[in-house]
Amino acid sequence: MTQPKVELKHLDNLWFQVTGTLCNIACAHCFNSSGPNVRTFGFLPLERVQSELETAVRLGVKEVFFTGGEPFLHSQLLEMLSLSLGCAPTTVLTNGTLITDRVADRLAEIERGGRYSLEVRVSLDGYTEEMNDAIRGPGAFRQAMAAVGRLHQRGLLPLVTAVRTWTDEEELATLAGFARALREAGYSRPRLKILPALPLGRELARSRARSGPGGEALLTDEMLVGFDQDLLMCSNSRMVTDHGVWVCPLLVEMPDARLGESLDGAATQYELRHHACMTCYHYGTICGNVSARIEGPATTAKRSI
Ligand code: SF4
Repeated sequence: MTQPKVELKHLDNLWFQVTGTLCNIACAHCFNSSGPNVRTFGFLPLERVQSELETAVRLGVKEVFFTGGEPFLHSQLLEMLSLSLGCAPTTVLTNGTLITDRVADRLAEIERGGRYSLEVRVSLDGYTEEMNDAIRGPGAFRQAMAAVGRLHQRGLLPLVTAVRTWTDEEELATLAGFARALREAGYSRPRLKILPALPLGRELARSRARSGPGGEALLTDEMLVGFDQDLLMCSNSRMVTDHGVWVCPLLVEMPDARLGESLDGAATQYELRHHACMTCYHYGTICGNVSARIEGPATTAKRSI
């Protein structure tokens, strides 16, 4: 049995791991094990972001994403977002804890002045303080909800993302709970994206502690017969880190997923040999912005505000 290989068909999505694995919190399910003292990957300089953006534009990039760690720990993040918005629709993924009024003001300004639209994704893993902070740490719920309110007040409609840590039976009540909590925080048109838990990083250790090891299957060639490979990020995305370019944002802890020093040399095919690939197979492009939203627009087109 062999593992299937996937080619980069086109660079649609460019990811920057802009603060490496440095984060101001340490979520229990973090797929790249980021945290306050985790320096497995480091910060990207502005010049590196600029040069990879230029390459990506030449390659026809369609969307750009900034992640970490926590991107707002980077002192030049706002300049980077501004640059990126001259190139393509841009998304920043954040835990929301550093979005003060001043930062929210700047984001709104940057969005208004940008050629393309800015999407802010705020992570929240529960609709109550108790549920969320059990995963994301004390105070995270209050700060993320405040960030959602600040962004919404300025006409940015944040996409709230939650990792699914509840059961099928709890699904409807949980979605209703999110909608209620977000509206109570002043977000009148809440958008929600539910992500599957990924068998990677801290989440892998967490799930093994709950259910024991095993059961993490691998893809086979046969499984990809007739399968739409466009649903796999590795067919249309690359992730820039300070250690080089990775095949996708999910496998950043896997040394064999490093494809080259820079984007120019990272168009090689990749063999799907990790358990996380099975999650992509089942759920599709999980890192993109398409939301199972409660209501409101899910678009990367420039909004008029
Ligand atoms: S984790 Fe997903 S996107 Fe990454 S290489 Fe595997 S299938 Fe492709």
